Amino acid sequence: MQKGDLICPKCGAGFRRITLSSLKGECGEFRCTICDRVLEVFDDSSAVAYRLTVVPARIFV
Ligand SMILES: [Zn+2]
Repeated sequence: MQKGDLICPKCGAGFRRITLSSLKGECGEFRCTICDRVLEVFDDSSAVAYRLTVVPARIFV
């Protein structure tokens, strides 16, 4: 299991990425749940889960 952090360059939200290499995943992309910017694209080699860890100080309304 691999863990990593990523920050959305657009809105500043922080996410924790957890990669489960023992599990088969799905191709896809991860978008910021706040502003919908594409942050990562992944293949199906492993399952990836994301969790919002830092809520941006400024949220565009
Ligand atoms: Zn964002």
